[in-house]
This record gives sequence, C-alpha cells and structure tokens, in this order.
Amino acid sequence: MFAFNSLIAGLIPYFPKWFVRPFAKPYVAGESLDEAIDIVRDLNKKGYAATMDILGEFVESTDEANQIKDDYAQVIQRIAEYGLDSTISVKPTHLGLGLDDALGEANIMALAQSGKDYGVGVTIDMENSPYTSQTFDIYKRALSIHDNMGTVIQAYLYRSLDDIKSLDSPRLNLRICKGIYKESPEIAIQNRTAINDNYVEMAKTLLNGDGYACLATHDLSLIDRLEALIESENIPSDRFEFQVLYGVPMGKRLEALKAKGYKVRVYVPFGEAWFEYSVRRLKENPKIISYVMGNWFRR
Ligand SMILES: Cc1cc2nc3c(=O)[nH]c(=O)nc-3n(C[C@H](O)[C@H](O)[C@H](O)COP(=O)(O)OP(=O)(O)OC[C@H]3O[C@@H](n4cnc5c(N)ncnc54)[C@H](O)[C@@H]3O)c2cc1C
Repeated sequence: MFAFNSLIAGLIPYFPKWFVRPFAKPYVAGESLDEAIDIVRDLNKKGYAATMDILGEFVESTDEANQIKDDYAQVIQRIAEYGLDSTISVKPTHLGLGLDDALGEANIMALAQSGKDYGVGVTIDMENSPYTSQTFDIYKRALSIHDNMGTVIQAYLYRSLDDIKSLDSPRLNLRICKGIYKESPEIAIQNRTAINDNYVEMAKTLLNGDGYACLATHDLSLIDRLEALIESENIPSDRFEFQVLYGVPMGKRLEALKAKGYKVRVYVPFGEAWFEYSVRRLKENPKIISYVMGNWFRR
C-alpha cells in the first residue's frame, strides 16, 4: 500500500488542478476569506470553536511574508467584527522564518499585537525539526505581548516530553499532535504505538501541570485513552479541548465529546495555495492518500 501511495503522491504535481481538487476539497474551506468565514459561522452554530489557517508555508520573498502577515491581520479583524468563536493558526515559515528569521519573528509579534488588540487567540503551528527550538523561543517572547498565544508540540519527537516540562506555566496553551513531517529515527519515534504512548504521557504531564491542553487527533483509540485519562485524573473541562482538522470524518465522536461538556475546536484551512499545500503534504506523507480514499468510502 505504501508503494501505491508513494506512486500517486509522486504523480500528483503533474495532474491538472481540476483533477486534484476533489481530493483536496473536503479538507479545504475554500479559496477566499469569505468562504472560510461562512464555514466558521456554521461550525460555531453547531457548537464548535474554530481556528483559521491561511494555507501555505516557506515563502520565497519578504514581500510575500509581509503580505501573509497583512492577510492574517485581516482575518483577525473579521473574526472580531463578526464575533466568531475562532482563533488563528500561523506557520512560522509562511511569515518569513527560514528566509529572514528577524522578519519572521517580527511578523509573528505583529500578529500577537493585533490578536491582543482584537481579543483573538493566535497559535503558532509547529513545522519540521529545524524550526522547533526557534518556534518555542518565539512563542515565549510573544507571550509577553499577548496572553492568548498558543503553540504546538509533536508526540513523535523524543525531545517533546522535556519541552512540555520546560514550557509549563499557567499561561501555556499547547496543542499536542502526533506530527506530520518526515523526521529521522535519531530524533523521532517511528513506531505508531510508541508515538501514541508518548502522546498519552505528554497529555498526562501537561494536564497535571499548569497549562491548557489542546488534544489534536482523529485517532479514535487515542481519544478513548485521553478520555480515560481525563476521567481518572479528574481533570476539569476548562483545562483542555479536543481539536480536529476540518473535513476529516469522525463519525458521531465529536457530538459525543460535546455532550460530555468538552470543548471541540476545528482547524479550518483556506486560501489560494491549496494545490501546492496539498501536493507538499501528500509527498511528505503519502499515507494521507489512503486516508482520503478511506474517508470517501466512509462518508
Ligand atoms: C487541529 C490539528 C492541528 C495540527 N497541527 C499540526 C502542527 O502544527 N504541526 C504538525 O506537525 N502536525 C499538525 N497536525 C497534524 C498531526 O500531527 C497529524 O499528522 C494528523 O493529525 C494525523 O494524526 P492523527 O492523530 O489524526 O492520527 P492518525 O492515526 O494518523 O489518523 C487517524 C485517522 O484520522 C484520519 N486522518 C488523519 N489525518 C488525516 C488527513 N490529513 N486527512 C484525512 N484524514 C485524516 C484517518 O482516517 C486516520 O485513519 C495537526 C492536526 C490537527 C488535528
């Protein structure tokens, strides 16, 4: 199956956009901000919080990085203007990190300031391992501007449990995810069961510390374990939330989580860069192809 997925992933950049669009469509909330706002409004009506993400990463010019910062500032203003229950999620390399580190950081700080001005939370997504330490450092500095800042930690990295311990504070807002990038065995756990075990250990450490935990996963057996942990440790529901990506079928599980009084947030990606983004994601992680095909049949 892996060889088949890799073959399709390698061919996708050569397919026309109209052919790839149906694969990407269920997971992308449109190309425009207006389309994404309609989706967030609908999610809010159904009782879900959201976080809005402009698709893209690794910009190639400082102008582009500045444009993305301005686009995000507009997203923040619209969230506030329409009273939406949504934060934003930003990728550091989309705002210039890696190209011009000082500019990348300045753009994140500018968004932290607009988030504060408009009362909108800002989460710094975690990219691949060359950016891990830098992202945590920027996150800590951004917290001095805006209280409602979050970042992300990846359960596949060996370093993550120690990172949680050193980040912990009452102001910490940390999304735990398994991790989407291809990382080497020297720094990252490769075994699926061991990644899940580390995820649970990390969630336990975070929930028993002072920070707020965002439990991001679609893995139903992992959600079972997280719920059992929350119940056995008597964790109050204002200490955590569950998070999922827009469009990934979850059966009735999200309704069940809400019925227990747990907060659920949906990550809503949108933007013109959906094609490049989907291609890059697929090449990095060809198993998404079997997810997408499996999800089609489960719909
Ligand atoms: C809200 C949110 C934010 C995230 N932010 C980051 C981040 O900042 N940095 C980072 O490295 N990773 C991020 N991720 C991705 C994460 O690291 C995982 O790669 C991804 O969620 C798949 O892992 P899983 O926990 O869902 O479990 P898996 O065991 O990989 O997946 C469980 C099931 O979920 C479904 N599924 C999972 N992913 C997809 C998909 N993309 N498309 C369709 N179906 C899918 C499939 O049915 C699969 O069988 C985020 C994930 C979520 C939910």
